[in-house]
Amino acid sequence: RTPGKKVVKGDPIITGIRLRPFLERESLIDDISAVQIFENNVICTQNGRPQIFKFTNCFDASANNKDVYDGMIRSAVLASLQGYNTTVLAYGQTASGKSHSIFGSSSEEGILSLSIDNLITMNANHHLKFELSFLEIYNEKVTDLLATPTTSNEHVTNKSTSFSKTARTHILNKFVSNSTRTLEIREHPVLGPYVPDLKYIQVKTKEDFQNVLNLGNQQRSVASTNANQRSSRSHAIFTIKISRIDIPQSITKRLSFGVNSNTNLTNTHKTSILSNLNNNKKNAKQQAQDELEAQCVRLNFVDLAGSEKSQQFIRSKGKNDRFAESIHINQSLSTLRNVIDALSRQQHHIPYRDSSLTYLLKNSLGGDAKTYMLATISPSSTVIDETINTLRYAGLAA
Ligand code: ADP
Repeated sequence: RTPGKKVVKGDPIITGIRLRPFLERESLIDDISAVQIFENNVICTQNGRPQIFKFTNCFDASANNKDVYDGMIRSAVLASLQGYNTTVLAYGQTASGKSHSIFGSSSEEGILSLSIDNLITMNANHHLKFELSFLEIYNEKVTDLLATPTTSNEHVTNKSTSFSKTARTHILNKFVSNSTRTLEIREHPVLGPYVPDLKYIQVKTKEDFQNVLNLGNQQRSVASTNANQRSSRSHAIFTIKISRIDIPQSITKRLSFGVNSNTNLTNTHKTSILSNLNNNKKNAKQQAQDELEAQCVRLNFVDLAGSEKSQQFIRSKGKNDRFAESIHINQSLSTLRNVIDALSRQQHHIPYRDSSLTYLLKNSLGGDAKTYMLATISPSSTVIDETINTLRYAGLAA
């Protein structure tokens, strides 16, 4: 180790490859998969030439979300329960199965839902609190997908009966397009980057979770209709914030409340303890709040923008908006790549600040955090070049 050079320790990224089955329309064109999975090998055939990529976690087209969960993601959930900030990235070209894996479909639950299930089951004694946030990064700007539209939108939620469905959709569309309220990212000196106005919703049951997910997905799809294919060009981060319900011992000691750290405190108790501190203790209060926050762990599920876009959009250079979009998407994906590369080489400087995505995930990527990357690929020979790009990228991360 070179003296004076800080080595960034951390586990390597845990990588998995998931091949999705042919879609009905594809089976008409391709009758043979250009990709085969044999044990830990992914074999791609490009221009008649086979190429082999090796990975620890490989899921072939017969695997369902539960198999992916059991084989790879369960350990991410366990890591978060052991106190590690944890991130699960879904990487791959559009239509390769990122959203299907994370959010599921009408026929099967996604790995996110299966994770929530596991967390709720393991919290039988109710010592943990789960809060969810769901945000989108589009053109490097952060939007809260759970922020219930205020004022104008109250018409939609409260007086919905007086509007036809079309009128409601119109109002909601208008709201979403007007409300590209970009949220600011700030950096706390100790706790790292955060979005001050981001909404967190506490969930206790699977049903609570489903409602939060539906709300977020609804807002995401409305926004997407407005900006053609937005969802494949944006990054979505679904975060489960996990905290202990009992107040940490370090705080109780310092503030001499005489509260045993094992005592279960409700949220109301905690808030009242904190707010009972008088003004002279403002710093102590801030410190206590920071410490409570520092006891939180974040488990993030990231549905990344389609990995093919960077190249596609460079071709559409000239149309300003689109070009801006391409630069931004490029920026987040290529910064992610640079961050992962810098982490794997244990470099001193990790360029987290170069994109909104990596900046927001700073405390959950590398370092003390656990990072999982599920790279999704299509079996179709028509996109074999993209598939090979994905495998190379995932290989770089591993
Ligand atoms: P992405 O999020 O990468 O753009 P999607 O998850 O939307 O891709 O998947 C594209 C299509 O393929 C969707 O219709 C989805 O339901 C289907 N699909 C993806 N993965 C699977 C899978 N493992 N099994 C069955 N259908 C899948």
